[in-house]
Amino acid sequence: MNKTYFLDLFGCAKNQVDAETLMAYLNDAGWVCVSSPAEAEITVINSCGFIETAKRESINAVIEHKRNGKRVLLAGCLAERYADELFESLSEADVVFGNKDLSKIVSAADAALHSVRTQLVPLSSDTNIRYKSRPLLSPPGSAYVKIAEGCSNRCSFCSIPLIRGGLKSRQIEDVFDECQTLLDRGVRELCLVGQDIAAFGVDYSGKQLLSVLLESLARLDGDFWVRLLYLHPDHFPPILDFLKRNGGGRFLPYFDIPFQHASKSLLQKMNRKGCEEDYMALLDRIRDALPDAVIRSTFLLGFPGETDVDVEILLDFQEKARLDWAGCFTYSREENTPADAMKPRVPKHAAARRKVLVEEKQTAITEKQLERFVGREFSVLVEEKVDEGLYLGRMFAQAPEVDGAVVVHADAAPRLGTFTRCKVTARAGFDLTAEKVR
Ligand code: SF4
Repeated sequence: MNKTYFLDLFGCAKNQVDAETLMAYLNDAGWVCVSSPAEAEITVINSCGFIETAKRESINAVIEHKRNGKRVLLAGCLAERYADELFESLSEADVVFGNKDLSKIVSAADAALHSVRTQLVPLSSDTNIRYKSRPLLSPPGSAYVKIAEGCSNRCSFCSIPLIRGGLKSRQIEDVFDECQTLLDRGVRELCLVGQDIAAFGVDYSGKQLLSVLLESLARLDGDFWVRLLYLHPDHFPPILDFLKRNGGGRFLPYFDIPFQHASKSLLQKMNRKGCEEDYMALLDRIRDALPDAVIRSTFLLGFPGETDVDVEILLDFQEKARLDWAGCFTYSREENTPADAMKPRVPKHAAARRKVLVEEKQTAITEKQLERFVGREFSVLVEEKVDEGLYLGRMFAQAPEVDGAVVVHADAAPRLGTFTRCKVTARAGFDLTAEKVR
């Protein structure tokens, strides 16, 4: 049998790194990744099991691939969280494979290839995961670097600690090595990710080590970006001095800080310690240190007990916070999380209406915030050729997949996956248009 597989990926950046690592192990074992399920012997679904909608999406993919006559290997967070139930009830999944020890994917794939119905959920985590040599699924020039696994914050609505366990940070030299290798491979943007990178290092040193990690990455040579994603606001790490000192363009003044809400009483029920005043003080501290700082956040609407007054507090916070980007989600009841038992529940339609209110408010703020880049020159990481003289890329203020893009007009063709200097000429919705200057 020719060992070919198609990878169907769901979920977050951390799950993408897992998928890339699964591919590394399979490719090393002689498997070949093909670009369409039709050509593949098996389909590997790296699923998401975080919230209801994501779970349904992954299960529908299993059923769809099976309907197309594929042998289906269900991997990822959904498989990890519900292994027994899925093996019992989802016969369309030939193999159910947990995500604690990704190196075992080869035996799981062989089982799928030979249609041996298998449930393989390793208990221990494979600490020396071979991150370095993995294929990259990000746009040209960009890569996610997972610096820690799991989370110990235990937000009451969140199922991730149930799936990924408590915080397990990687060793600094290990992350340094991986970043060195990625830069040697031509990567120009290193997006540091974890469930909460603010807590990096606390599990094995008792201290937040993100600034120490950044100091070590500053020893790397070359022109590249380091972007920080998922910083918990309640314990924002001591990185501002470092970023101020190293503000020459490599360590981006870009912060992804999921506030989730601004109502103190609601945040307490979420098992989060902050409030509107704390978060405004944090934003002021960041902007005092880095006036051009770009801040992205996430808001959760419809948490049990949320009132119209709570939503008013959030809308008021948005007005004051002037965030550059924000994503909004509605609360999803997740069994075995503390919030699952909480009451009164907010009807889904009310949660959806509140989400629209917050999104509409944020759209106006984001568009206004983007205006400050018009007329200025920036480095743009060019990712895609759209047409002759027309390219798509991102500047420091735009993270992969979630923020807008820069539409670059360039006579001389820039190389994909490299930086090119551009002058921003206008804003168009959440995107910016720019002229290549050199
Ligand atoms: S910090 Fe994020 S991953 Fe951790 S428990 Fe809270 S929401 Fe979940």
